[in-house]
Amino acid sequence: MSSKRNLPPNHCVITYLFRNLSGLAVGNPSGDESKVGTNLEANHDVVVVGAGPAGLATAYYLRDLGLDIQVLEAGSDIGGRTLSRDLAGAPVNTGAMFIYRGTRAESLAAELGIRTAPFHPGTYGVHVDGVTSVASSTAEVVDALPLPDESKQALAEFMESVSREYNANTSEGAITENAAGLVNETVAERLAHLPGPARSVIETAVRGGAVGDATQLSAKYALRYLASYIVHEQDNRLYPVDGMQSLPRALAGRCGSTTTITTNARVSSVRERDGLFEVLADHGGESKVLTARHVVMAVPAPLLAGISVGLPDWKLEALKAAETPGSTTLTVAANVDGLEGIADWSFVSTVGKKFDAIINPLPGTVPPDGIVRFTCYGNSAGFLPGIENDEARINEWVEELLEVAPELRGRIAGAVAATWEHCFSVLSPKRNDALPELRRSIGNLHFAGDYTSETAGSHGAYEEGHRVAQLLRAELSVPA
Ligand SMILES: Cc1cc2nc3c(=O)[nH]c(=O)nc-3n(C[C@H](O)[C@H](O)[C@H](O)COP(=O)(O)OP(=O)(O)OC[C@H]3O[C@@H](n4cnc5c(N)ncnc54)[C@H](O)[C@@H]3O)c2cc1C
Repeated sequence: MSSKRNLPPNHCVITYLFRNLSGLAVGNPSGDESKVGTNLEANHDVVVVGAGPAGLATAYYLRDLGLDIQVLEAGSDIGGRTLSRDLAGAPVNTGAMFIYRGTRAESLAAELGIRTAPFHPGTYGVHVDGVTSVASSTAEVVDALPLPDESKQALAEFMESVSREYNANTSEGAITENAAGLVNETVAERLAHLPGPARSVIETAVRGGAVGDATQLSAKYALRYLASYIVHEQDNRLYPVDGMQSLPRALAGRCGSTTTITTNARVSSVRERDGLFEVLADHGGESKVLTARHVVMAVPAPLLAGISVGLPDWKLEALKAAETPGSTTLTVAANVDGLEGIADWSFVSTVGKKFDAIINPLPGTVPPDGIVRFTCYGNSAGFLPGIENDEARINEWVEELLEVAPELRGRIAGAVAATWEHCFSVLSPKRNDALPELRRSIGNLHFAGDYTSETAGSHGAYEEGHRVAQLLRAELSVPA
């Protein structure tokens, strides 16, 4: 197919590896069709800003059109918030953890041959005031907590009602149409009647599972990010055993030979001039100017206004509804050989700690080396720049984990911290209302990311990459 454009001829794509600024390959496990442009001063059919799930999905779903697509990534690696790292000999996820069933992330994973294991929780847990209670029944979990009787009773009833609501609004792990009305209610409304100690247990669990607080999270998405853990849902999460980043890496490897992905290329401005976009990027300390007929903005929502020059008021207003708070994670590898029960932990919310919850993505599984990896989600802690390399602060977090799980003392095999300025696009009723404006293109300037999707998460970002690719296909392709 050819493109409906009137641009100078495309430049040649002349090298064949993803390359970061220092010239190091950043990896293309699929081994096919990888490429990086060395000449950024060229014209393109499409420039995609950001090589996270949304940006890469956009390029992937356009791969058969022969379009000249340049994906510009500010960081030294692709995948955005799906970054995986090695910890004690296995991949761990420092950002996104799970592929949700029934979403585009699941279908893409299948299409791309990504290896997954089901998340099969058999327990739920709460830590409060020095007591960690993890059990298979909600009644047992609540019973062991050091809370006043009134709070225990209210908590047990609340969890029962959450389970009932979950069962009424989901089927085989997926949220059904029944839940549509819940999108306009927040969780806070459901918690208002709880006594303080019971409320803080649930508020912490909401934070741990969903980043936003109870005044932000819609009751619809509380089904996925709170209730599913309480009911031990068996059918809604998959764990990518080679790391969450394996998915964007596979996408990048299959984008097609006319797509170029350039890392260490930070876009500082995008502006329209005479029907073409001028994209200013800093690459290797030099300022480069690219032109493109179409630009796709696939960066976190809070960055958009600083990059796209002259966004209209309606877009700026909509972007205000797309809150994307920061978060810090700590993943700890520990040898659990001979320890009873701890490998069965799945989700433990932790009241009053630096982190709000601990997730073990492979509950019930002890690998041959005995090492289990627990990720602590510091969503209340927010963005903590520098913590990744700050041993003292990492040790403080590890110590807090050991207060929750004292049996792990002396068994820690390693820890990795990561911090995210923009973690997750909050699933709030107000963002839901703003979705049409968040999605709406401005001429040939398009918007794709977790923030333009109903569901947020990487699945939302992949879905939005697909949506924008369809839009571009209609614009740029003519039948052969
Ligand atoms: C701690 C944590 C836990 C999460 N858990 C899950 C989960 O379990 N499941 C799930 O599906 N999702 C989860 N998510 C959310 C998921 O990671 C995001 O929704 C998803 O990555 C969003 O994709 P995106 O492409 O919109 O943005 P991003 O992944 O943020 O990608 C945007 C890219 O743009 C680049 N960029 C930014 N500015 C510029 C610029 N000026 N020029 C060029 N490039 C730029 C960034 O470096 C980045 O690579 C989690 C996220 C975090 C942080």
